[in-house]
Parts: sequence; C-alpha cells; structure tokens
Amino acid sequence: MSYKAEYIWVDGTEPSARLRSKTKVLADGAEPGDWGFDGSSTNQAPGDKSDCVLKPVFVCPDPIRGGDSKLVLCEVFLVDGTPHPTNNRAKTRPIAEKYEGQEPWFGIEQEYTFFQAGRPLGFPETGFPAPQGPYYCGVGADEVFGREIVEAHLDACLAAGLKISGINAEVMPGQWEFQIGPAGTLEVADHLWVARWLLYRIAEDYDVAATLDAKPVKGDWNGAGAHTNFSTKAMREGWDAIITACESLGAPGKVDEHIAGYGHGIADRLTGSHETAPHDVYSYGVSDRGSSVRIPWQVEVDKKGYIEDRRPNANIDPYNVTRLLVNTCCEALEK
Ligand code: ADP
Ligand code: MN
Ligand code: MN
Ligand code: MN
Ligand code: MN
Repeated sequence: MSYKAEYIWVDGTEPSARLRSKTKVLADGAEPGDWGFDGSSTNQAPGDKSDCVLKPVFVCPDPIRGGDSKLVLCEVFLVDGTPHPTNNRAKTRPIAEKYEGQEPWFGIEQEYTFFQAGRPLGFPETGFPAPQGPYYCGVGADEVFGREIVEAHLDACLAAGLKISGINAEVMPGQWEFQIGPAGTLEVADHLWVARWLLYRIAEDYDVAATLDAKPVKGDWNGAGAHTNFSTKAMREGWDAIITACESLGAPGKVDEHIAGYGHGIADRLTGSHETAPHDVYSYGVSDRGSSVRIPWQVEVDKKGYIEDRRPNANIDPYNVTRLLVNTCCEALEK
C-alpha cells in the first residue's frame, strides 16, 4: 500500500513569494525524504542549472485528501547542500536557536481578500458596495461573502493539527482574517505557510482566489495586514520587559530594518489612516490602533502579557518577521 505526500515550498517570485506544491506517492511507512524540482520554473534557478532540493521540515495530516495522506512543508536548498538564497527559514533557524531560552511566542493575524471574476467577493459588477462599517465581524448575506470557504478552511487547519486560534470577517467586503498562535519562532511561520496553502487549495474548489495583496482596493478601503503578537517568558511575567521590547523596536536603525522585512508595498498600507501608523514614524501605546505597536488594554491592567506589532503586511514572509522581532527584542531583553 502507499500514501500521497504533498510537498509544499516557498518559491522565488518577486516582490512576494508564492507557494508551490507537487505530489509524491510513498510506500506505507516510508518517511517523506528529500526531493527535487525545476527551479527555473519558480524563479529560483537558471535553466542550465535548474535543479533545486526540497528538504522536509514540517509534516502534518492532509485534511483534503484524508486517510494517510500528508502535507510536507520543505526548505529549499541548492545542490551543493547550502540553503537557497530565497530560503528565509534557514536565516531564522540560528536566531531562533540563540534566543530559545527566552521562550518567544507569536500570534500572527493573517488578513486576506477573496477575489472572483477580477473583483473582491461581494463587490458588484460595476461600482462599489456600500462603504465600510457593517462588514467587520458581520453576519447576513448582505454583509458577509465567502463564509463557506472560511469555515471549510478552519476545519481543515484543525484537522491538520495547525495552531489556528480564530477567524473573523474583516472591514472590507470579501476580506477575512485567521490567526495562528501562540506558537514558537519557526513553528508559527511553518503553520502559517501551510494554512495559506490550505486556503488557496480550498478556495480553488469554489472558483475563488485568495490574495495576500496588502492594498487590494485603492482608495477608502482597508488594506490587509499581518499584525504580529509577540511575547517572551519575561514579558508574560512582567511590565518592564513589555516596555523594554517596545523601546527596542524604536532604537536607531531598527525602524527601517523592520519595515524592510515587513512585506512588499508597506508604504501604501501604512499611511496613517485606516487604523495604521505612518511607516516611517515609530510609536507605541496602550489600546492605540493608530500606533506601530499596540499594548493591549488587558496587558496594561495585568502589567504583563504581550505586544502587537501592527506594521507587517499581509504579504509577509513570516520567517522574516519572527526573525526580526526575536533578534531585536530578545537582544534588548538579554541585557
Ligand atoms: P486582535 O485583538 O488584534 O484582533 P487577535 O485575537 O486577532 O487580536 O489575535 C491575537 C493573537 O495573539 C492570537 O493568535 C493569540 O493566540 C495570540 N496571543 C495571545 N497571547 C499571546 C502571547 N502571550 N504571546 C504571543 N501571542 C499571543
Ligand atoms: Mn517534468
Ligand atoms: Mn485580529
Ligand atoms: Mn484584523
Ligand atoms: Mn490585531
């Protein structure tokens, strides 16, 4: 007997990487081993040196095929055994290891937008729907578009054993969010990439495309972000560590470094309106959805907990965001 393993990897498309996958049939009991692919078709290699290597890093049940089928998330390597330049997970591994003792946790809020026939789900054929207001966490056929897909996606993530912690309808019609976390530095990003793959794959059956575009509709419509909630053991135990983390993110050089790793087109989304702070000015505050980093009100009451970096775009590579946060905050907390 045999089973199906869907090998999933992050490609080299600029400015934002996409997911690719292909199927390998394996003998029952065989572990998913290394595999290869044609890097010249994924923006990862020239045609005359096209072979790239897939190394499995996270395996979970495949809720779509069911049975013994597996989803196999991989890192991409060159044939000489070194990580491919587009392999951001490899860059995060040593940082995650270095600060493991501080027990970093992440919760990433992945916003996204459904599209069909070239426009967001719920948008009329011509013109625009009624302005934003009733859609966020709405209910009813006039306010909510795509719930069937969202429910199927949540069930699939749970069946795969992903650390999904919730879903909600967002501010613009056809826009939704799911959250992954709390989970570790690599773990949250691994689970997020697999959850994204499941989203695309399930929406495909409804003839709908999900996009992580950070500003899918120009004008007076909310963009799509990936608010990243972060804590260490010290932050979960006391207020001083919360403030140290917030301050560290505003240190000289840090604002630009983080913004550069927080996704494509960030200046278009972080404009200072639509619940965002301007991308080039760092601020933090309690309950303030207009600041770069928000301290939730409950955290101020408890004098411990976590912080929310509101800057990352929906189209982030989460390995870059977790690496930057761990590197900046944990380095400051170590002192
Ligand atoms: P918001 O109120 O900003 O919409 P959400 O409820 O959508 O927040 O997401 C919050 C995320 O933060 C969830 O994924 C949750 O699991 C995660 N989270 C909760 N506590 C912590 C913590 N101590 N450290 C890191 N992440 C956390
Ligand atoms: Mn072929
Ligand atoms: Mn949220
Ligand atoms: Mn949101
Ligand atoms: Mn949030």
